[in-house]
Amino acid sequence: MSLDLIVDGERWRAHLRTVASSTPGLVPVAKGNGYGLGLGRLARRAEWLGVDTLAVGTYDELPEVASRFPGSLLVLTPWRPWVAPLAPDLQRRVIHTISRPADLGALTARQQAPRVVLERMTSMRRHGLSAAELWDTAPIARRRARIEGVTIHLPMTGGNLAEARRLMDDVVGAEASTVWISHLTLDELRSLQAAYPDITIRPRVGTGLWLGDRGALSVTAKVLDVHPLSRGESYGYRQRHGASGHLVIASGGTAHGIGLAAPSGDAGLRGRAAVAAKGGLETLGVLRSPYVLDGKPLHFAEPPHMQASMLLLPRGTRVPEVGEKLDVRVRYTATTFDSVTVS
Ligand SMILES: *Cc1c(COP(=O)(O)O)cnc(C)c1O
Repeated sequence: MSLDLIVDGERWRAHLRTVASSTPGLVPVAKGNGYGLGLGRLARRAEWLGVDTLAVGTYDELPEVASRFPGSLLVLTPWRPWVAPLAPDLQRRVIHTISRPADLGALTARQQAPRVVLERMTSMRRHGLSAAELWDTAPIARRRARIEGVTIHLPMTGGNLAEARRLMDDVVGAEASTVWISHLTLDELRSLQAAYPDITIRPRVGTGLWLGDRGALSVTAKVLDVHPLSRGESYGYRQRHGASGHLVIASGGTAHGIGLAAPSGDAGLRGRAAVAAKGGLETLGVLRSPYVLDGKPLHFAEPPHMQASMLLLPRGTRVPEVGEKLDVRVRYTATTFDSVTVS
């Protein structure tokens, strides 16, 4: 009754090694649901890759990785005064992110000489210090903390090199020797390194590392039941009717994160009107599902249930057997799998 993530281990590990060897200073990011693979597994892989630092998203994620990865742990969410004090063994390993001048004083009042990175605001406008705040805060950080560099989080739009270069001048102004950075291509990283040879660049990578070779990953559900459906027969929680063909009941539902996001494509009003004009299944209010049979996406018969989904198979489509596997196209970071198998 499950939604399973299956990883071709050899291919996945080869990809991890390729990324690590082509990305000097790599800092793997393990956060959230561990990119679908689980935080603990990513922490063990980070140790296997031989990196010195692993980044996590939040303080709450530290316990799950700290026992599996022995190196430094960078917390990406900026420190705030309500963060509980760390256990002494973690105090030595954790690098805090400081994004407001006042937080540095509050943190150093609680922990002696904490390891910190100073976050510079970017065009993301999520967290960070202005240039003036960075320059004011850096000397204080050098006196009262162990400053590990400046951190910059860039958008995912690509073409971030110009912004990175502008912000590097602030890094230099703050007399920092290391910059922690995200979302630059390998070429952009090389070009930045060439322009600033004295600064150590630490690229943070999550998606491109763990999920960078999609061919190494597959997600499968199982056909739990198949029923013929004649026109006029009603079905499901909502007792819809009007369609005919087959109902396929597949494992996987809202508890796994199935179908919470609008399926891509025909979601807009205009798209729906176009489909309705063509007389597709969408005229019945059914939406494309992430389940795939014989390479073609299937449609939901009604919104997904908690642990199962009802799919509508139009006449003329091959009818799968109970127990048959269906491919499922999901967002790994938003899906909870019942099992993850790495071969
Ligand atoms: C999530 C995150 C990353 C990694 O992002 P990916 O797109 O998964 O590579 C890097 N830096 C920060 C600050 C993040 O929050």
